Amino acid sequence: MTALKLTIGLTSAPFDRVARVSYEGQAHFGETGPAGECCRGCQFWDRRTDDRGIHAKPARCKKFTRLTGKPGAPVPADAAACRYFSRFVP
Ligand code: SF4
Repeated sequence: MTALKLTIGLTSAPFDRVARVSYEGQAHFGETGPAGECCRGCQFWDRRTDDRGIHAKPARCKKFTRLTGKPGAPVPADAAACRYFSRFVP
């Protein structure tokens, strides 16, 4: 599912795949982080809101907030990790 809103009329480009796997509210594009990792495993994913396993509700990315100065849209737990991924250690 495409998470980012794409503009009609633009032609495809090699980096389209990255946009398709990225979600509004992520600190950077999905799949730019470690292979196979997702936001749920990142220390910046705000799991305080609700953490009920892999089906946890989307949560805000604290790195996004830090970079932009405002909270972003909640990001799904299974969103592909971005370049700012930092492993969550309980
Ligand atoms: S991998 Fe971490 S820093 Fe990147 S969008 Fe997901 S929660 Fe945010």
